[in-house]
Amino acid sequence: MTALLLVGAGHAHLHVVQRTDELAAAGYRVHLLAPRHFDYSGVASAIAAGALSSGVGRINVRELAGVHGVEFHEGTLESIDPETRIAVTSEGAHLSYDVLSLNIGSVVDPCGMRVHPAVLRVKPLSGLTDLDVRLRESARHSGATVTVVGGGATGLELASHLAVRRDIVQVRLVESGPVVGADLPIGARRRIGRLLAARGVDVRTGCVVREINQRQLVCSDGTAMPHDVAVLATGLAAPPLLAELGLGNENGVPVRATLQHVDRDEIYALGDCARFLPGPLPRIGVHGVRQGPVLQRSLLARLRGEPLPVYDPPRRALSILDLGDGVALAVRGRWWWYGSGPLRLKRFIDRRWLRTYREGGPTPRPE
Ligand SMILES: Cc1cc2nc3c(=O)[nH]c(=O)nc-3n(C[C@H](O)[C@H](O)[C@H](O)COP(=O)(O)OP(=O)(O)OC[C@H]3O[C@@H](n4cnc5c(N)ncnc54)[C@H](O)[C@@H]3O)c2cc1C
Repeated sequence: MTALLLVGAGHAHLHVVQRTDELAAAGYRVHLLAPRHFDYSGVASAIAAGALSSGVGRINVRELAGVHGVEFHEGTLESIDPETRIAVTSEGAHLSYDVLSLNIGSVVDPCGMRVHPAVLRVKPLSGLTDLDVRLRESARHSGATVTVVGGGATGLELASHLAVRRDIVQVRLVESGPVVGADLPIGARRRIGRLLAARGVDVRTGCVVREINQRQLVCSDGTAMPHDVAVLATGLAAPPLLAELGLGNENGVPVRATLQHVDRDEIYALGDCARFLPGPLPRIGVHGVRQGPVLQRSLLARLRGEPLPVYDPPRRALSILDLGDGVALAVRGRWWWYGSGPLRLKRFIDRRWLRTYREGGPTPRPE
């Protein structure tokens, strides 16, 4: 048997776990090293803002692995020795592998700021789970002032969502660039600008933040802004662990179009933790989702000695920002759609995806 070690239960690996029978029949013994739960980012802002209940986006990875006959090792990856092909887990287990695949997601890129450990980070998502609790605590006194740092998609989602909470006195959105939502089509950006204004969000652009403390942030021009809770949403980077392992850097594990490490045929990396060498990919869930079937085919092809498939990223992807209070913004390329319709579409897509990986859910059709 060929030992396959999947590290992280990201989108691509969830797909592979569900098809373990095919891999086992081909000659793989499949191991999964991951935390017990996977939290789905598509509903993370709504959960963090208290608009959806906390279990809505959660997948029980241990149960899923059990149902599909995968050997599950609860924990995280600590180190690997690529020469002996042994991985060491946070629980101290030593797992040997013939083929290793990494799908461990991303962390927030602090972009050179000094950030106090008490400041919440949008990734890993565990950082966001505390937000609702913190807000409720602050609300017991006088109502919270919240600063969201970073005016990209996640920062916009969070700021607009939080602004409809009654227990928040003020939401501030701080961005270093000249506008928030710089990647959005201009009409969509204006529409969000009107929404933020109508909800009373204090948008500060051109503020390069130097440090964020527990109670205030300080910009490079010395301006200080107080808060009760701060959330860092300044973009995503690959986990520092990859550099420690000698497999990559903050841009990710360098992979070829086959999703294999540039120098090591037996190591794959997918989703946010990979750096796709044929061309940079944004850190969005669609790539992990679409890379799952490529990894599955690749694993089968390598045992049969066939040519390995390559990942062909979509040129444009649909993204839907949940803006709270029943509205969302859907964007695909220069096309955009604002209102309650995009939110219904988002909830439909999210629910369908989550159902796929919950016990008893339908087995998805291959893409
Ligand atoms: C608040 C927020 C909202 C977002 N909304 C959207 C959205 O609506 N649509 C969209 O396309 N993108 C969205 N994104 C981006 C999206 O989260 C990522 O692009 C996507 O999750 C990447 O998927 P992945 O499979 O690479 O990794 P992840 O989904 O992050 O999964 C990685 C898994 O690996 C585990 N792990 C981490 N370290 C280790 C380790 N050392 N060992 C073992 N396991 C480990 C983690 O616990 C996690 O379960 C959002 C991001 C944020 C922060």
